[in-house]
Amino acid sequence: MEKFEITILGCGSATPSPKHYTSSQVVEVRGKLFMVDCGEGTQIQLRRSRVAFARINHIFISHLHGDHCFGLLGMISSFGLLGRTAPLYIHAPQELEPMLSQEMAFYCRDLEFTVEFQGFDPAATTVVYDDRSLTVTSFPLRHRVPCAGFLFREKPTSDHLDRAAADFYGVPQWDYNRIKEGGDFTAPDGTVVPHDRLTKPADPGRSYAYCCDTAYNPSMIPVIKGADMIYHDCTYSEDDADRARKHFHSTATDAARTAAEAGAGKLMLGHFSARYPDENILLEEAQQIFKDTILAKENLTVTI
Ligand SMILES: [Zn+2]
Ligand SMILES: [Zn+2]
Repeated sequence: MEKFEITILGCGSATPSPKHYTSSQVVEVRGKLFMVDCGEGTQIQLRRSRVAFARINHIFISHLHGDHCFGLLGMISSFGLLGRTAPLYIHAPQELEPMLSQEMAFYCRDLEFTVEFQGFDPAATTVVYDDRSLTVTSFPLRHRVPCAGFLFREKPTSDHLDRAAADFYGVPQWDYNRIKEGGDFTAPDGTVVPHDRLTKPADPGRSYAYCCDTAYNPSMIPVIKGADMIYHDCTYSEDDADRARKHFHSTATDAARTAAEAGAGKLMLGHFSARYPDENILLEEAQQIFKDTILAKENLTVTI
């Protein structure tokens, strides 16, 4: 299977701390790199990680809270210093554009690359990126300001050729691709060998849902249903549920309920408040409802 990996650069909430950087991660799908959120310190974390950051061409910003976007200007400026020439696409709530372009007009005057701003409405469910192997859909979360989650869904590959069957029926090599894409084979004597007899089904497209920052949000379940992995806001434990409701964040229990209701493969908890010296209490709380849960951690890479 081709690469589908998530690398966590930061998974703390609110302000950077000695323990956690603020939100940012890199999603790699079939050789393409996408950044999700860009909190302060993201550049340092990119340097520490093994991510080939010159290959990041698209950045998705969930919402305009500083812990998700304060790293953007500095990173654009550094890309300029490092000699970047490839266009950089920023997918973010529309409100960011006038602020960012004003800052860039001052601090990033001589860039050798273009920054293409592609605004979207965080209140709507919208396809914000699409290519031959992947679709990224934004969907509304429940937060104090308009905020979007992102679903990365790989498109299914073509069917696999059954080489033994192809040899048996005398399929010539030049015809393999057409058959993998769904064609039947007609032998020289006119016999038609159906596609199904010559192939094995394609791998189903994998998917990853980024759901940060949000209060418990059942309305997103239909969008993220069946995701192989969900990254979910887990700012608080259930003991601090009142605080979570007040600030429109989730508890570990909320995150686990969401993963269970969505029938997810795995849950990764993140966006931790600094108030828990040991985040295992969050992990244990979530695992009571959803067993296959892990804690996010800086520089952790997980394979979908
Ligand atoms: Zn946040
Ligand atoms: Zn926020």
